[in-house]
Amino acid sequence: MARDTLEILAQDDHLIQSFADLNALKQQGARTVISRAKGAYVYDSDGTEMIDGIGGLWCVNIGHGNTEMIDAITDQLKTLDYYSTFYNFTHPAAAALAEKVAQLAPGHLNSVYFGNSGSVANDSAIRMLHHYNIRKGKPEKKMVLSRHGAYHGSTHLAMAMTTPGYSDGWHAANDLVHHLRSPHFWREGDELTEAEFLEALIDDLIASIDRIGAENICAFIAEPIQGAGGVVPAPKGYHKRAWEVCKANDIKYIADEVVTAFGRLGHFFASEDVFGMVPDIITTAKGLTSGYQPLSATIVSDDIHEVISRPDGMFLHGMTYSGHPAAAAAGLTNIAIMEREGIPQRVRTTGKRFENNLRGLIDIEIVGEVRGGHFMMGIEFVKDRDTKESYPDDAQVGLKVARACQKRGLIARPLGNVLILSPTLIMDEPMIDRIEDILRDAITEVAAGL
Ligand code: PMP
Repeated sequence: MARDTLEILAQDDHLIQSFADLNALKQQGARTVISRAKGAYVYDSDGTEMIDGIGGLWCVNIGHGNTEMIDAITDQLKTLDYYSTFYNFTHPAAAALAEKVAQLAPGHLNSVYFGNSGSVANDSAIRMLHHYNIRKGKPEKKMVLSRHGAYHGSTHLAMAMTTPGYSDGWHAANDLVHHLRSPHFWREGDELTEAEFLEALIDDLIASIDRIGAENICAFIAEPIQGAGGVVPAPKGYHKRAWEVCKANDIKYIADEVVTAFGRLGHFFASEDVFGMVPDIITTAKGLTSGYQPLSATIVSDDIHEVISRPDGMFLHGMTYSGHPAAAAAGLTNIAIMEREGIPQRVRTTGKRFENNLRGLIDIEIVGEVRGGHFMMGIEFVKDRDTKESYPDDAQVGLKVARACQKRGLIARPLGNVLILSPTLIMDEPMIDRIEDILRDAITEVAAGL
């Protein structure tokens, strides 16, 4: 290990890592220092080149080190480093980005609230709906329906909406949230067909609404494809059916597109273009700036905006950095690059190749399921393919495969028995094929040692 790396790691002893086994990280070699990045690649502090197979954290959609982005952010900082969007103030970058996002968002989603993370986008959605219902004279309408397997963020409320297992050992605002059944057909479908499983999920939704009372529920929140819960798509037609049930019960549908928007599934937004429905709220972050600046958006319907803008009431919600000029400039330039280079369109071909290549790994014995779509994929490892028996947690199969990948120059993300791949969207065919080769090698090596 280079001397530099040791010095950095000594300083890093003061840093509390996110979503990490803080004890295990004390062991030598457990942390990787990423020092540099360009395009689809990152470099560690020893200079080792690796394909960024997770796009930072599902976010660096246009690739690393884009100088047009860096120039746009710098120019913005030179002109207006900071001003808020509080009270009666606004600024050109936030205004322009709000208009652009509203144009790209489907249907009647024309108003945008900026925050600085996906967690804040989801918290903001719920706070806005609480305010909306209070203003409509329905203060009791405040519960949220979420789903097992969901990930909606790490603030207190967003974590309460996240699947229960994620907050083991912590408190969560559970009194506000009810978790519906997981939509994972392969794991939860038992002897049902996919169509029957869909009916079972919709029955669970309806039964939950009946039990809690629609008059007590403000929102249903769902990721189009569950991400950090293990990349889990819902059965075909699920989102549209759930949306219809919500509509019939005056429950707002929040599509958490923090991962799925801005090209990852081949469209700027997946809700309408991939899943055929227009929700009441879309929350997004990550790909909105491709990770160059922290920024999120809570995009709401005309109805919601109209109610929260009625006379005799204040919108008492705001973060100092809501719509930060540098972040807004990053968002505008990121979208301009995506439009000019046709990145979402290209993903429909390159992402499909990536998906198909990964699906081919199902012939390796320990691969139980390969799932997701385009550049959002998960590979689940099983001890027994027929019974779908999982490896015990302490076998650390996902982690072992991720380490074997890293050794071969690919960063992938382990999540229990699942390996997640969500690379930059600028991958060309040779890179895509190389990822497949590395994965095949790494999984085969780990399987042999189990
Ligand atoms: N929603 C989804 C679907 C996510 O994947 C994430 C983050 N992985 C979040 C919300 C939270 O976003 P952030 O980490 O920016 O708070």
